[in-house]
Parts: sequence; C-alpha cells; structure tokens
Amino acid sequence: MEDESNENFQGNISVCPWPDDKRWAYSITFDEALSDLHRFAVPILEKHGVPGHLEVVVGQMGRVRQIGESSYNGFKHMNTAELRAMLARGWGVGNHSWSHATVNAETADVELKKAKQTLEEATGAPVTIYCAPGNNSNMNDEALAACRQFGYLGAMSLTDALNRPGDGDLLWLNRTFLHDQGYAPFFSEFDPFRNLAHARREHGWVIDYCHCPLEKPIHRNKDCSAAQLRERLETVLAGGSGEVWLARVEDAVDYRYTRRAVKIKAHERDGYDLSAPDLHPAVRRRTLTLTAPRDFKAAEVDGHPCPMRPHGDRMLLDMDLSSPHRLRLVRRKKSS
Ligand SMILES: [Zn+2]
Repeated sequence: MEDESNENFQGNISVCPWPDDKRWAYSITFDEALSDLHRFAVPILEKHGVPGHLEVVVGQMGRVRQIGESSYNGFKHMNTAELRAMLARGWGVGNHSWSHATVNAETADVELKKAKQTLEEATGAPVTIYCAPGNNSNMNDEALAACRQFGYLGAMSLTDALNRPGDGDLLWLNRTFLHDQGYAPFFSEFDPFRNLAHARREHGWVIDYCHCPLEKPIHRNKDCSAAQLRERLETVLAGGSGEVWLARVEDAVDYRYTRRAVKIKAHERDGYDLSAPDLHPAVRRRTLTLTAPRDFKAAEVDGHPCPMRPHGDRMLLDMDLSSPHRLRLVRRKKSS
C-alpha cells in the first residue's frame, strides 16, 4: 500500500486509504429520489450488492414533480414510507435542497437547515450529505459555509474528477457522470469507464451520478439506460470483490474524516497510542483499517489479544476510534 502523506504513517503501522485496504471506492447517487427507481435501478443494484444513494428534494417528498423545465417533471418523488424502506435496504440519503432552487445565505435556513431536519424526521436517520441542486452554482461559498454551520460533512458537486483519500477539502465532493455524453458547452462523447480505470490507479473514490435509469435515458447527460447501468456495475466489480469498496456516500465520508483526524503516537517495543480527539461529532462510522508488515502476526488492543488478518503481503486490523486505544503489535518468531 502506498500513502500520499506521512500523517497516517507511524513506525510499522499505517492507515489504509479505504476500509479493508480496498484499492478504490465506488458510490452511486440518484438525484430527485424518484419512485420509478424501483423499475430498474433498485433490482440491478441489489443484484450486484451495490448500495444506492437518494438525493431528496425535501419539499417535494411524495409529490409528482413539477419544477421549472425539469426533464423529470411528471415523475413521482418517493414519500416518507418509501424512503424509510430504501434506508432499511441499505441505501443512503442526502439533502438535495428543499425546493431545488437557489441555495445561498438568504435561503440556507430553508434549503439546508429546515430540509435537513425534515428529512431526518422523515427517515429517522441523520443527514450529513448535501447534494447541490441544478449545478455547481449551488456549491457557492455561502452555501458551503451554511453546510458547515448546520453540521453537514459532505457536499456533492458535479465535477468530473476523482475524490482522493488525502483531499484537502472534506466538504467538497466530486461527482463524475459516467454517461456517454457530457454537458454544455462541450457535449463531448467519451468512454464512460475511463474514470473507473483512473480510480483504480490512484486509490480514488468515484461518486457516480444518475437520476432514474429506464429503458432509454430521459436525458443523455443526466442518466444512463438500465442496460448501461448493468454494464457499468459489472465493470465496477470486474476486479473482484476484494478490489472495490461499494460504499454509501456517508460511510466513505466518515472514513475520510476519521482517517484525517486520527493521531498515532509511537512508543518503544511496537506500542502505539491511537486517538481521534478532534473528530467531527457528526461522524458516525469511526472504524479505520490499519496495516502492518507480515513481520507481525497479531496485536493487542488495550491489553486484549486481537487477531490481525493477512492481506497480500500485509496484515490488517480494524480499530474503532470512538475512544482512544493503546495498540501493541506482536512479532512473529523468527524461524532459524
Ligand atoms: Zn436535481
């Protein structure tokens, strides 16, 4: 495993870029959270074991869409019961604003604060992800400042770029559409799978972007067809289940925050103190995967024996950083 910085490396242990030392991460998002996802997207994702992510227009839950010139007008937004059922199936959820209009300092109380609270009540789950409606103009400084203020951990843009384990801005997330045609002014055609190869090469995290895949895409730069979705997931999984972390957006964001916050202090005799004292309180999943060379066979955590698992030429150990821990690595006996 290579590491892009020394922050997560101390002595013989380092923190894996992604859980279980997966090489890269993949998430897929569905803007507007439409009921028609049940026709193709939900069964295709479940067949491949991929969790989806719903971007909810909170003021529209349960309503037939009628927003400006939207390509998806006439489709029904999922209601509270449908959203709860999707979360129970392992999907994640984000706030796609209250009204799908402008998000700035003036509107943030409704679009970000009220929408977050209402969606949390509707789903019974914390909401830490904002998904900008429309385009990146709703990722403006005022919107992102309000996201910080209201306790969001991630804000999703439409940017054709990878997310990397060492990214500086933890709130800004890139979403890259894997469709075969790009947006104005280029309308470029390209290989939708280039970003997957890129992610494999650079420990990246691809956040894929769809609305509601059907027999044919409603809009070529907002969606793929059901057949293309199938092909895409087969490509994602082509490296085998050991290679890619199929992550809900909030789980990958939590890992990023925890990895950034962990402090590792090395002692003599293969001992380490690990803690994450400054970790954002909204982070729920605080478990990191640590890796050590094969010279070690096991670990002790707070004095208790703790097996490590082999992974290639390394050993792995998961550790929950909700509280500080003392770790000691146990060396293999050298055979003479
Ligand atoms: Zn939208």
